[in-house]
Amino acid sequence: MDNCIFCKIVRGEIPSYKIYEDDNILAFLDIAPVSPGHVLVVPKKHFKNMEEIDIEILQDLIAVVKKIGIKIKENVGASGYNICINNDSVAGQVVPHLHFHIIPRKEGDGLMPWPQKEYSEGEADEIAKKIKL
Ligand code: 5GP
Ligand code: ZN
Repeated sequence: MDNCIFCKIVRGEIPSYKIYEDDNILAFLDIAPVSPGHVLVVPKKHFKNMEEIDIEILQDLIAVVKKIGIKIKENVGASGYNICINNDSVAGQVVPHLHFHIIPRKEGDGLMPWPQKEYSEGEADEIAKKIKL
């Protein structure tokens, strides 16, 4: 994709701090980190979102995410991390090239969890039926 920022990073047209690279995958530091060591893991091929990506590449991506998570816990003083995909713009996806975020976490880092709600009477049952596989 000509104008995709992450495709440009993959092609080396935009510089990045690379963390990992193989034939299909690139991982690099997020330019605006939520916390130091915030990494993005992307397929080199352009897929917009989870619906588009090939399952084989997704499996390879999550394997890389797992390895980087170990490094983060060992070497940037994080005691945990969030793994996140913002899937589609309504979910906060700004760059329409699927990517995992790995966000290092420390006790007391002040990052807020998502607010949670309650189901109304019968709502959970109805929704579970709708999305059951
Ligand atoms: P999204 O909101 O699409 O899930 O996340 C996009 C992420 O890409 C953001 O966290 C943003 O900081 C990061 N980002 C945007 N442009 C660049 C760039 O040119 N280089 C790097 N390394 N990260 C970028
Ligand atoms: Zn792209």
